[in-house]
Amino acid sequence: KKITIAIDGFSSTGKSTLAKQLAKELGYIYVDTGAMYRAVTYYAMQNNYINHEEFNQQALINDLSKITLTFQFNPNLGFAEMYLNDVNVENEIRTIEVSRFVSKVAEVSQVRAKLVEQQQEMGKNKGIVMDGRDIGTVVFPEAELKIFMTASAQTRAQRRYDEMVEKGQPVSYETVLENVQQRDYIDTHREDSPLVMADDAIEIDNSHLSREEQFQVVLDLVNN
Ligand code: C5P
Repeated sequence: KKITIAIDGFSSTGKSTLAKQLAKELGYIYVDTGAMYRAVTYYAMQNNYINHEEFNQQALINDLSKITLTFQFNPNLGFAEMYLNDVNVENEIRTIEVSRFVSKVAEVSQVRAKLVEQQQEMGKNKGIVMDGRDIGTVVFPEAELKIFMTASAQTRAQRRYDEMVEKGQPVSYETVLENVQQRDYIDTHREDSPLVMADDAIEIDNSHLSREEQFQVVLDLVNN
C-alpha cells in the first residue's frame, strides 16, 4: 500500500538526498517544496522586488497569479527539475543570493497559501515523498510517516559548503554557516507555519549517521 511520507527539518540536513533516495527505492514521486519557495524568490529578484536589502512584498503578492511552478522529470538526472513559467530554473534557484532571501519570501502568508495548495494537489495520489518545513504539520497532517531531520549547524554548513564548491560556486564556509543559522532563525520564528516538529514525527539526528545508515533507518520505518 502506497503512503505519504513527509520529511521536514532544518536547512541542509540532507532531507532532499534522503527523499530522492526513498522515492527511487519505493517508486514514489519526490517533491522538493524548498525549490518552490526558491523559484518564487528568484522571480521576485528578477523583477527587482528584492533589491539590496529591500523586499517589496506587495508587488510580489500582486504578481502571484502570474507565477506558474511546475516540476519536470529529467531522466538523465533521475529527478524532477523546477520550472518557473516554463523556464528551467534548477541552477538559478540554488545560488547563495536566493538562499539569502528565500526565508523572507517564505514568511509571506499569501505565498505560503499558494504553494501549500499546489502541494496538497500534488499529494492527492499516494506514493509521494515531500520534503520541506511544514509538510507534516500543515501540508499533510495525515501523512502516514513523518520524519524530522536535525544536525548541528556546523555539520550542515560544511555539507552545503562542500556541495557549492563542487558545483563551482564561489562562497566561503563562514558565509554558508551564517546563512544556515539565519534561515533556521527566520524559519522557526515566523508567524505563519513556523518550523516545528509534528507531534507524531520521528526525529533523526544525522550529525553522526552516514547517508546509507540514515536511509536504512527510514526504509525500516516505511516497511513497518
Ligand atoms: O529546503 P530548502 O533549504 O531549499 O528551502 C529553502 C527555504 O524555503 C527554507 O529555508 C524555508 O525558508 C523555505 N521553505 C518553507 N517551507 C517549506 C520549504 C521551504 O518555508 N515547506
